[in-house]
Amino acid sequence: MKSIQRDKLVSFLDDGLCLSEFSQDESANGLQVEGSSTVQKIGLAVDACEYVFKEAAQKKMDFLFVHHGLIWGGLRSLSGVVRSRIKALLDSDISLYACHLPLDWHPKYGNNAELLRLLSIRKMGEFGKYHGKNISYWGRTAKELSLDEFTAQIDKALETRSSVVSFNKKVRNVGVVSGGGWFAINEAEKYNIDTFLTGEPSHSAYTLAEEMKVNLVFAGHYATETLGVKAVGDMLKKKFGVAAEFIDHPTGL
Ligand SMILES: [Zn+2]
Repeated sequence: MKSIQRDKLVSFLDDGLCLSEFSQDESANGLQVEGSSTVQKIGLAVDACEYVFKEAAQKKMDFLFVHHGLIWGGLRSLSGVVRSRIKALLDSDISLYACHLPLDWHPKYGNNAELLRLLSIRKMGEFGKYHGKNISYWGRTAKELSLDEFTAQIDKALETRSSVVSFNKKVRNVGVVSGGGWFAINEAEKYNIDTFLTGEPSHSAYTLAEEMKVNLVFAGHYATETLGVKAVGDMLKKKFGVAAEFIDHPTGL
């Protein structure tokens, strides 16, 4: 297996994932913790946390790419869990790279583009405005489906168990936002959406969906957000010939 210079990898990711377009993101996207200057093995995970850091150290990884990093809206103090997490990375010389909203949005490697692809939904347009920028898409299924058929497809593709609220609509025009995307239900009418798919269940979405008659499918925050990091791992393997492996740490939520 080949190795790559950390700085080269970081600038490749910064450019390729268009980080500069998401300056509004609370996540400090990009390199958050600097580890080894040479990268031989890359780990990819949804969350930056103790379990993932231990696995990465054990597997002799020197670079971790995550969707949910450690630095959000400015770090105020290195104490408690934050201190332990950062110490674990520094002790094992592992870099941490975070990519939040750009990885939801990215048209090729993003969580939402991957969701559409996996579910054979044809992309029709942008969707899910968050901090002034669309981070997702809405699209059309190849044929009309019952909500049960659609949910079965999702559960199989994502190895999850969705919770569903039906408002008796057939599934054709689907709005998708990975993770905690309930806010996008507000755009359902604009795009004539009959079914809204996001990760985390939200009470707040219910009455809006009820009055707009839009089915709700909550497929899990974690389950909808493993896709982007996996796609980035596959791309890095192909592009640089480095070892890259997904570290699975499902929350069931
Ligand atoms: Zn998320």
